[in-house]
Amino acid sequence: MSRDGDAFDMLLTEDRRFPPPEGFRERAVVSDPDVYEDAERDFQEYWAAWAEELDWFEPWHTVLEWTPPHAQWFLGGRLNVAYNCLDRHVNGPKRNQAALIWEGEPQDERRVYTYWDLHREVCQFANALKGLGVGRGDRVAIYLPMIPEAAIAMLACARIGAPHSVVFGGFSPESLGDRINDAGAKVLITADGGYRRGQVLPLKAAADKAMENCPTIEHCVCVARGFGLSKVSGVHMTGGRDHWYHDLIADASADCPPEPMDSEDVLYILYTSGTTGKPKGVVHHTGGYLTQVYATTKVVFDLQDDDVYWCSADVGWVTGHSYIVYGPLANGATVMMYEGAPDWPHRGRFWEICEKYGVTVFYTAPTAIRAFMKWGEAFPDQYDLSKLRLLGTVGEPINPEAWIWYHNVIGGGRCPIVDTWWQTETGAIMITPLPGVTATTPGSATLPFPGIEAKILNDEGEEADAGYLALTRPWPSMIRTIWGDDQRFKDTYWSKWPDTYFTGDGAKRDGDGNLWVLGRVDDVLNVAGHRIGTMEVESALVDHPAVAEAAVVGKTHDVKGESVASFVTLKDGIEGTDELVAELKQHVVDKIGAIARPETVIFTGALPKTRSGKIMRRLLRDIADGRAVGDTTTLADPEVVMSLKNRYEEEGKI
Ligand code: ATP
Ligand code: MG
Repeated sequence: MSRDGDAFDMLLTEDRRFPPPEGFRERAVVSDPDVYEDAERDFQEYWAAWAEELDWFEPWHTVLEWTPPHAQWFLGGRLNVAYNCLDRHVNGPKRNQAALIWEGEPQDERRVYTYWDLHREVCQFANALKGLGVGRGDRVAIYLPMIPEAAIAMLACARIGAPHSVVFGGFSPESLGDRINDAGAKVLITADGGYRRGQVLPLKAAADKAMENCPTIEHCVCVARGFGLSKVSGVHMTGGRDHWYHDLIADASADCPPEPMDSEDVLYILYTSGTTGKPKGVVHHTGGYLTQVYATTKVVFDLQDDDVYWCSADVGWVTGHSYIVYGPLANGATVMMYEGAPDWPHRGRFWEICEKYGVTVFYTAPTAIRAFMKWGEAFPDQYDLSKLRLLGTVGEPINPEAWIWYHNVIGGGRCPIVDTWWQTETGAIMITPLPGVTATTPGSATLPFPGIEAKILNDEGEEADAGYLALTRPWPSMIRTIWGDDQRFKDTYWSKWPDTYFTGDGAKRDGDGNLWVLGRVDDVLNVAGHRIGTMEVESALVDHPAVAEAAVVGKTHDVKGESVASFVTLKDGIEGTDELVAELKQHVVDKIGAIARPETVIFTGALPKTRSGKIMRRLLRDIADGRAVGDTTTLADPEVVMSLKNRYEEEGKI
C-alpha cells in the first residue's frame, strides 16, 4: 500500500500550557520574544552575529552561498573547533574551572578535568595521532565507552583537522567494520573495555574482529579503561599496529598548534542511528556547525556560569557530539559525563548523580523518561533534585503524559522543559521552546529556533496544517552530503520538492501555531482513508495510568486498508489482563476517537529499539502482518523482536 498521501488527520488535543516561571525569565539568556522577529529581518546576519562570538583565525568574506542542495557558510573563514572549545577558555578566567566531570559506572570512580587539564591532554593526544601519521583530512574512527578519552579523542582530531567517525560502543564488530570501511579510516581508537550494567564490554576484542576486514586501518590506539593489570594484559595487542593510549600520551608534547581549518572543511562523519534502514554517513563541516551548536546550547539550555550541565546521551550519537562535547565546551560550560546505565547498580542512579554533583540542567531522551515512569517515583523521590532548573528531551516525540511526569516528578513542577526536535542531519537543534520566552505545551516542540524556517507541506509542496515537516531555508549546521554518496544525499532529502529539505517526519500545527511532530512518515497508519501519526495514538495509550510505553503500527486489513495494532509496556507491578485490554481500547476511543481504536493490544515487557533507544516500528509492522522480520542489525536487543513475534503468533491473531 502506498504510504504517500496528503495531510494527516489530527486527533490529539492538548490544552495544558506552561509559561516560563517568573524567576526563570528574569535571569534567562534570552527572554525577549522579539528575538524571532529580529532574526527574521535578516537570518544570515543573525547567524553571522553568533559566528562572531567564536574565535576565527581569518574572518569570512561571505556568510552563505546556497546552490541547492549544497550550502556553504562563512566562506573564506578559518578557525579551529578545539581551539574554540579549549584554548579560548584556558586563556581566560575559566582556565581552572571544571570542563568535564566524569563518573564511572562503579560508583567510586570519578575524574575531573579543568579546561587546562583537558587542553593539555587533547594537545598530547593530537601530537600522538600526528606521530601515527594522521594528518589533515585523514579519517579516524572512534569506538569508545563513555569515558573522558572519547571527548579527548574527538577534540584531538578536530585540533589537527582529521575528521572523526564515532561509532557507538554498543555496535557489533560487523557494524563497526562497515562504518570504518565506508569512511576509509586510517586509525581506530578504542579501549580494552567499558562498563555496562556491571559487565565489562570487551571493546578491543570487538575492534580486533572488525579490523580483520578493514584494510585501511594502519594503527589502533587502545585506552586502558582501568580494570586492573590482569585484565588489561589479557587484551591482545598486535605489534606495529596497536598502541596503548597511555604510552603514546606519556611521550607526547603538550604543545600542539591548532590547525587553521577552512569553515567548510569536514569536522566529522556520523552514521545515523538506523531506525528506518541502512545508516547514512552524515557529513558535518566546521564553521557553520560550530556556530549553530554554540548558539543553540547557550540559548536552549540557558547556560549560566554556575550551571552543571548533563546530557545523558552517548557520544556515539549526534546528541553526544553537539550537546556533550562541541556545544557545551564552546560555551565554557561544566559538563557532567556518566559512563554507565541508568539502572546500575540501582534505578535511582541518575538522580543520585544529579544530587551528588548538583546538576542544574539535564537533557535526556523520551525512552529514558518512559523507563523512569515504568520504574516509579520511589527512585527519584529518594534524592534531592532541587538544584535542577531546566530539563530537556530529544530523540522521539514525547508523549504528553511522559512530559507531565518529567515536569512534576523530576522537575518538581518548577523547571521549564525544552522538547528539542532535530536530526543527525540537522547537526543542531532546529525546533524547540526558548525556556525564557516560550509557553510550552506537553508533546509539542513548539517553534523553529530563531533564524530557522520550518514548514508543514503536502505532496505538492503547499503549506498545510498537517503533513510533512520540511526545512525551507539553509541553516549553518546542515548536513553537507552523505559521505561518498552525494546522489543518495540528493535523493534522500532533496527530491520531494525543489530546494526544500525533507525531514522524513510528519507534523501538525495547533491552534497556537505550535508544531507537533507526529512520527515518521514511513510509520504513518492509514485507517479507512485516515492518515494517522503514530505519536497521537501512542500518546493516548500512555495517557492511561497503567501504561508506561506504547508503539502502534498499521496491520493490513481487508476493509479498512489498515487497522491499528498496539504493543504496550505496563508500569511495574501492573498485570496485563483481558479487562485492561478492553479498557485501553476504550481509552483510545475516548481520548482521540473511534477511528484510532486498536484492534489488537499486546502487552510486552520491552519494545524493539535501536541502540539509541528509539522504537523500531517497521519490525513491529512485520510482526503484525506475519511477515519475516526485516533487518535487525541496528537493534539493541534482537531477542525482543523474536519473542514478540512468537507471542503475537500465539495471541495476536484476533
Ligand atoms: P535513520 O535516519 O537512520 O532512520 P534516525 O532518524 O533515528 O535514524 P536520528 O538522526 O538520531 O536518526 O534521529 C532523528 C529523528 O528522531 C527525527 O527525524 C525524528 O523522527 C526523531 N526526533 C528527534 N527529536 C525529536 C523530538 N523532539 N520530537 C519528535 N521526534 C524527534
Ligand atoms: Mg533519520
